[in-house]
Amino acid sequence: MKRLPVTFWTTLFVTLVCVALVALDFDRSWLARKVLLEQTERNATNLARAMSGHADDTLRAADTCLTDLEERIEVDGTGPAQLQRLHRLMVDHVRTLPQLNGLFFYDETGRWIVNSRPRLDRAANNADREYFRYHREHRDAGPRIGKPVASRSTGRWVIPLSRRIDKPDGSFGGVVLATIDIEYFSRFYAGFDIGNNGAVALLSDDGTLLVRRPFKSESVGISSVRTPLYDAYTRVARTGTGEFRSTQDGQVRLNSYRPLQHYPLFVTAALSKDEVLAHWWHDTLVRTAGVLLLAGLLALFGQRLVRQMRQRLRAEQELREARDVLASLNVTLEKLALQDGLTGLANRRQFDVSLGNESSRAMRQGVPLGLAMIDVDHFKAYNDRYGHSAGDDCLRAVARAIRQQTPKRAGDLAARYGGEELAVLLPHTDAAGTEAVAERMREAVAALRLPHAGSPLGIVTISGGAAAIVPRRGIDHAAVLVEHADRALYAAKATGRNRVMRHAELRET
Ligand code: GH3
Ligand code: MG
Ligand code: MG
Repeated sequence: MKRLPVTFWTTLFVTLVCVALVALDFDRSWLARKVLLEQTERNATNLARAMSGHADDTLRAADTCLTDLEERIEVDGTGPAQLQRLHRLMVDHVRTLPQLNGLFFYDETGRWIVNSRPRLDRAANNADREYFRYHREHRDAGPRIGKPVASRSTGRWVIPLSRRIDKPDGSFGGVVLATIDIEYFSRFYAGFDIGNNGAVALLSDDGTLLVRRPFKSESVGISSVRTPLYDAYTRVARTGTGEFRSTQDGQVRLNSYRPLQHYPLFVTAALSKDEVLAHWWHDTLVRTAGVLLLAGLLALFGQRLVRQMRQRLRAEQELREARDVLASLNVTLEKLALQDGLTGLANRRQFDVSLGNESSRAMRQGVPLGLAMIDVDHFKAYNDRYGHSAGDDCLRAVARAIRQQTPKRAGDLAARYGGEELAVLLPHTDAAGTEAVAERMREAVAALRLPHAGSPLGIVTISGGAAAIVPRRGIDHAAVLVEHADRALYAAKATGRNRVMRHAELRET
């Protein structure tokens, strides 16, 4: 697989970090929202529980008064003295129970018999009231909670709580009624912290709205049968929570609802979801803006980093290319350096390489390899007499003559071995052939007739040592060959110079 560049991984890393940052923030916000909504639901549930208990207690206290009155009327009768006592009792109850607006007793025709008011309007008749008609027609003994009405005596919104009075023979004997001030509930509900858009309400099981905060007198007594809340209360569970859109004001609220323990009513506490979430929205937007800014900076920084890395990689690539160019230049230079600067012959390095190569080749092919070592005679004296620069010129002239006499076959090589010593490598040439070539060279140099006052002959001459070998495996033939040629040269020097000698051993092999 192709290795991906480091810039790719850096880009991937920075992108991942940015995405993770945003994702974490999103997750955190979502969790905070969930917790907030759960807490709101708990608050609404607690509120509903408190309201339910409060409404239960309120009604029970009023109902206790009614059962007390009912018993007195049924047992003691309604003579003038009894009525007077009943009146005092009623006044007393209304004074002690703040929720009570009034207590009333109507006879079987609906006439006002006694009540908690200071004055009694004997002409008034309540036979038309819904609760009155109900008790006249039903024998059940329990209390009845009616639809809210505006009180005839005080004009205030009240909830009627009533019980039937039985005559000794069991026939209908009238109604005792307690009117409960809606204002009493409103005051209690006003104490709750439900925000600006929260709502609480007390409703009867038949869907009639009794009390609501925020209070609107035109909504008292209306039916909420066709609301999602009432639907949930009657069809799903009598205690529960839900998110409903209010039919009163269109707000979506988190509702918690539950019934009263002893009376056919239920309460609901509803907190506005928008209002609860408004704070959360604000926090979330501020933080998200911060996170996005951070992610943006990171991305910007990452982009710059990647760009710099790319530039550096490109520079490194260019450096590598420059290095390669230099390397190939060096090869060229090396090639150039295979030549000796002074004589133009091969230098010692090339000679060594060629000697190694030709030696191996000769061994493989089983053919002889010849070598002639040549040294200028009395050259030190030449230098001393004519100067070093003239010595160089002389050396150049000798080298030229030797080059001219070097055969032009592949592998034949004339080299400057060192100082004024030259070497001629002759592949496929035996000792006699090598000696012959060296002899031709000696003659060529002598034929130049370069004056040399320091030499007994008066001209520049050379001496040569010839050797050849058929290399065999296991011996350092190159070194042996050089040594043999050297030894022959030494012999030529020793026997008078200006001559070529052949190494003797080769004749035996
Ligand atoms: P022989 O006949 O025994 O060879 O005597 P020789 O004087 O030539 O002795 P040898 O070979 O030992 O001396 C070499 C001299 O060659 C020494 C040095 O001054 C001279 N020489 C070596 N290389 C150069 C060179 O490149 N230029 C010049 N001008 N002189 C060189
Ligand atoms: Mg020498
Ligand atoms: Mg010499």
